[in-house]
Amino acid sequence: MKQKRFILSESEIPTKWYNIQADMPTKPMLPLNPATHEPLTAEDLAHIFSQECAKQELDTENAWIDIPDEVLDKYRYYRATPLVRAYALEEALGTPAHIYFKNESVNPLGSHKINSALPQCYYCKVEGTTNVTTETGAGQWGAALSYAASVYGLSAAVYQVKISMQQKPYRSSIMRTFGAAVTGSPSMSTRAGKDIITREPMHPGSLGTAISEAIELATTTPHCKYTLGSVLNHVALHQTIIGLEAEKQMAMAGEYPDTVIACFGGGSNFGGLAFPFMRHNILDGKTTEFLAAEPESCPKLTRGKFEYDFGDEAGYTPLLPMYTLGHDFKPANIHAGGLRYHGAGVIVSQLIKDGMMKGVDIPQLESFEAGMLFARTEGIIPAPESCHAIAAAVRKAKECIATGEEKVILFNLSGHGLIDMTAYESFINGDLQNYKLTDDEIARNLKDVPKL
Ligand SMILES: *Cc1c(COP(=O)(O)O)cnc(C)c1O
Repeated sequence: MKQKRFILSESEIPTKWYNIQADMPTKPMLPLNPATHEPLTAEDLAHIFSQECAKQELDTENAWIDIPDEVLDKYRYYRATPLVRAYALEEALGTPAHIYFKNESVNPLGSHKINSALPQCYYCKVEGTTNVTTETGAGQWGAALSYAASVYGLSAAVYQVKISMQQKPYRSSIMRTFGAAVTGSPSMSTRAGKDIITREPMHPGSLGTAISEAIELATTTPHCKYTLGSVLNHVALHQTIIGLEAEKQMAMAGEYPDTVIACFGGGSNFGGLAFPFMRHNILDGKTTEFLAAEPESCPKLTRGKFEYDFGDEAGYTPLLPMYTLGHDFKPANIHAGGLRYHGAGVIVSQLIKDGMMKGVDIPQLESFEAGMLFARTEGIIPAPESCHAIAAAVRKAKECIATGEEKVILFNLSGHGLIDMTAYESFINGDLQNYKLTDDEIARNLKDVPKL
């Protein structure tokens, strides 16, 4: 009998996160104060974030960070997650490749986001914060944050991208079930939101608009902190629990990945799976290939520019050195697959610059086709975001048919798609198209990146 699932017991769950900043050959450039262009300190960041997250964000010294016991205790409700050998997918493709996936869809919130929501809310709680606020796109982060806030007795206010709220109505119900207040962004409840609506009354909203509104709420409300579900270094740090478990599970399977793949929005599930393996490329001479799968309609990794840019539409965030499509980038409305954020996260941007990983662009239809194949073979309907990773893995596995190589491919199943069925419905009905940005569109959008 071939073993399909590799399971760790509760006592084998890692107790530290891995901070790749400590081992990077080139340290990431520092975030800058948008007004003075001076490098930011942890105290500056702690105006917006919890102190502990602010400290972790800038920590380039400590490779291993203890996971607090109270967080580990909550992780144990759903971790360790299984590593699965996708035999049925391999067979359907007729590939000699060995395909593994780490299944982050098996917690009740349905995505990896909970791995960072729990520690972020925990640190807020112990530092005396009573309220947390955030933005959310499709709603996985908002759902995870709403649950984590309720676990630690905090009040949560979530700004959800308006268009996503209409496309994925159940996620706001989930957030409200956990007790969060949910507002569509842009809204009339903040100055930033009013400004955006005045300029463009039918603005569909973007992560950029929702971040502006959430930051404004956090900075104008006592005892309220802002939390972010992606992009930042400390978020990827918390997500390394994924890769650290996967490392142990790959060892149980007696294999080591030749290629590690994850879908890419701001980089947290990618960093989470990839960084613990990349550590061995940096320190032990391994030559694993790392692929971040992004939508062709939001191609910041392959066609963006490495620049200091804002993380939000209004320009409230620090300036971050990253691959960006411009902070007021709006993905085409026909794009149904998530991963719409304009920027790439500081660590990953530096790793791309240094040639340690690369981005691959996946057209929308190829992404859903891969998701459908995965659903029919492995029995799990993947999140539209995760479909990009599956599509990249399928491409690799098909290359192996041509070469006959038994490559070991590991990808992250970042979430399930059971609340994203409207996107599948559109695909099945033939209503989705590919959308590739022209060079002109990209250049036009990049002209608003601040000049330093
Ligand atoms: C949020 C999300 C993503 C994208 O965010 P990253 O920070 O790039 O991981 C991918 N998949 C799922 C299921 C998500 O919820």
